[in-house]
Amino acid sequence: MSNYDVDLFVIGAGSGGVRAARVAAGYGVKVAMAESQFYGGTCVNIGCVPKKLMTYVAGYESAMRDASGYGWSVGERSLDWGKFIKRKDEEIARLNGIYEKMLNNSGVEIHWGAASIIDPHTVRVNSKDITAERILIATGGKVSVPNIEGAREHGITSDDIFYLKEQPKRLVVAGVGYIGLEFAGIFNQLGSKVDVIYRRDKILNEGFDGDVREFLNGEMIKKGINFHPKTNITKVEKALGVYQVHLDNGEIIEADQVLFATGRVPNIDGLGLEKLGVELGKSGAIIVDKCEQTNIPSIYAVGDVTNRVALTPVALAEGHALVDRLYNGQDRYISYDNIPSAVFSNPNVSQVGLTEEQACSQYPNEIDIYKSEFRAMKMILSDSQERTFMKLIVHSKTDKVLGLHMVGEGAGEIVQGFATAIIAGATKADFDLTIGIHPTSAEEFVTMRNKA
Ligand code: NDP
Repeated sequence: MSNYDVDLFVIGAGSGGVRAARVAAGYGVKVAMAESQFYGGTCVNIGCVPKKLMTYVAGYESAMRDASGYGWSVGERSLDWGKFIKRKDEEIARLNGIYEKMLNNSGVEIHWGAASIIDPHTVRVNSKDITAERILIATGGKVSVPNIEGAREHGITSDDIFYLKEQPKRLVVAGVGYIGLEFAGIFNQLGSKVDVIYRRDKILNEGFDGDVREFLNGEMIKKGINFHPKTNITKVEKALGVYQVHLDNGEIIEADQVLFATGRVPNIDGLGLEKLGVELGKSGAIIVDKCEQTNIPSIYAVGDVTNRVALTPVALAEGHALVDRLYNGQDRYISYDNIPSAVFSNPNVSQVGLTEEQACSQYPNEIDIYKSEFRAMKMILSDSQERTFMKLIVHSKTDKVLGLHMVGEGAGEIVQGFATAIIAGATKADFDLTIGIHPTSAEEFVTMRNKA
């Protein structure tokens, strides 16, 4: 008999927390959970899901425009923004309901409210103390806005952009990571004027291949997005209902909204971790070992709140592996190599494995590069000048494909499948043996024959 109220207390009903709670409860473990905001966390409510719906609403505009090249007469068209937001909210509410039902059906006891950890085995929610043999922190991340005059007062973040009452006709975006580039693409497709401000000379970060960063930038410029490299915002003001964004080169850009997509940091607010002595890293990230365990043995953490990879599927995998180990006798751990990811910019970017820069530094003089750039068949009859880019990084000694990168329509869908091949250790010879599916863009990955 346990001396605790529950076996496992999970803090946070986001992707990682819900997966862990649900699976653990399925193993017969007594699980309680605290959540203060919404079922499904960032991904379902203010992240991946509504963002993807936004890429779809924006994609229809491009599709209708391009259809004329195929002979379609597409007349006057307009977007009912309010209707889209309402439909999106309905879908999120449906997903919230599914999460709630899943948790209830698996017998997880839900406590609505902000949780704090009082001691290594006690969680307090709404002044009630619940003891637990183990505590899992899965509180995710939160937006980070730089300390710029007027940024917090007048700017919005990805927490707000899904609830705008109107489509901003002029949008300034600060930051060129996943979020900045995704929303730049969405609002550009919807016809808004988009200005992107960033302090580096290249978009995306070093986790992305240099060619990919350059190619995507070129494509987004072709679509009419205004990029302002090596530029900082110094001040955001509001005058006569319009935001004025002051840049350090003296320029002032007028906008209807200013989006700060300047990164996310772990959300450890109010948990009481410093007092407990939980070891924290940069920006408050909870430091965990390969067992998702903190320096306090009864306290675990998964997902964006940790010092690892901030992606929904990683949080899901971590939460699942943790409870499989703890409660189902499985000896399995997450590999952080070859995690595929996509940026849903326009065009999409997706990658798995090493960039050319990483490969060359790990295996100097042992890297072969294969590249292909083309105008996809679908674009030919339309007026779209969009081009697609693909790249393979191959280890010349072993012939193993170390990295696979794509910029173009459906990149995420295509790279997902190839990621399995890369994880299975596919060689360039295996790629060459694979018959292409014709006519597709994806077949290009198995028909690249000339080293760059
Ligand atoms: P990123 O870390 O990807 O990018 C942040 C951007 O903001 C960078 O351009 C960065 O510039 C800039 N920035 C940071 N601090 C400042 C500052 N003080 N002043 C000016 N610019 C600044 O963060 P995002 O917010 O785009 O996304 C957060 C995380 O969410 C991602 O890392 C990813 O893990 C996840 N995510 C994943 C998605 C997906 O899988 N499709 C979609 C959306 C989010 P610099 O490089 O110079 O620091």
